[in-house]
Amino acid sequence: MNIVLDLIEAFRRSKTMFAAVRLGIFDQLEHAPQTASALARALQLHEAAAARLLDACASLGLLEKHAQEYRNTRVASTYLVSDSEDTLSGYIKYSDESLYHLWSHLDDAVREGSNRWEQTFGARDALFDHYYRDPEKTANFMQGMNGFGCLSSPTIVRAFDLSRYRHLVDLGGGTGHLPIAACQVYPDLRATIFDLPKVEPISRRFISNSSVANRIEFVAGDFFRDPLPGGDLYSLGRIIHDWDDPRIVPLLRKVFDALPSNGALLIQEALVQDDRSGPVCALMQDLNMLVCTDGRERTEAEYKLLLERAGFSDVQIHRTGAPLDAVLAVKR
Ligand code: SAM
Repeated sequence: MNIVLDLIEAFRRSKTMFAAVRLGIFDQLEHAPQTASALARALQLHEAAAARLLDACASLGLLEKHAQEYRNTRVASTYLVSDSEDTLSGYIKYSDESLYHLWSHLDDAVREGSNRWEQTFGARDALFDHYYRDPEKTANFMQGMNGFGCLSSPTIVRAFDLSRYRHLVDLGGGTGHLPIAACQVYPDLRATIFDLPKVEPISRRFISNSSVANRIEFVAGDFFRDPLPGGDLYSLGRIIHDWDDPRIVPLLRKVFDALPSNGALLIQEALVQDDRSGPVCALMQDLNMLVCTDGRERTEAEYKLLLERAGFSDVQIHRTGAPLDAVLAVKR
């Protein structure tokens, strides 16, 4: 029974954190501890309601309360303050503004087997088109992808010895957290981020703020339609899970054809166990892909099969323990 009560309550905990992030509570408290009434004045909130939200955040371990003053806990300072280096505030806003609403139609997605963009937002343009119409939404989406991606990239680039490669091309690379992490670990590597033109200004900002900006370039293009920039190591981070097999196999073949012999493809995704018994986070991400894309999370065996269909024969899997796992497919 406890699991049922816990799951009934789970979305309330999520929404408590989402609301506190959106109201700017953690940003405000990062400057100095404050009482509920001072915070309510500063953020123009209803004082008594704000105190209830603050107490709820304290009960969740996001705030500490001493003598009526609230302060951020370390986890809030690291992940919930919007200008922290490791912030997940973009991913939280993306979850609150988009995913939460898409998930409210999960039952219909299961009935019909398709994503919920039209039902939820009344628009035919899904995911990237939806975000990239509006510069603020684009920036928020990219920051969200960056925050979540940074939790895994440093581990992914060490999952295999990539020191023999000289030029990494990250297809749909977004803010470039994967090539940045790779260039930081491998001093002889340079990298190209290949992504849609709307992403370019944001990506360039992230590149120029990194310690390896002189080894990373951005090339605008569409990986389905345009020729791929040349490289001996390609990467696809959370790209394959966005699409169904008929869309993704030709892209994998295109990568295979573009690679020199002994070149490789590095994949960053949440891997489902072959018997589909877990892990929970990958299965939840799989339902997430159901409501918001035409794709899904795949098992190790499914990745091997997809990659073999594209021509790769040497496929290695590495479960990282981070939110995303790593697959390396070598062209022999
Ligand atoms: N790889 C990044 C990461 O792990 O943070 C971003 C992942 S995000 C889920 C998907 C990325 O693919 C976005 O940056 C998006 O702009 C890019 N993308 C989508 N369709 C594309 C296309 N046809 N050509 C190039 N990039 C594309």
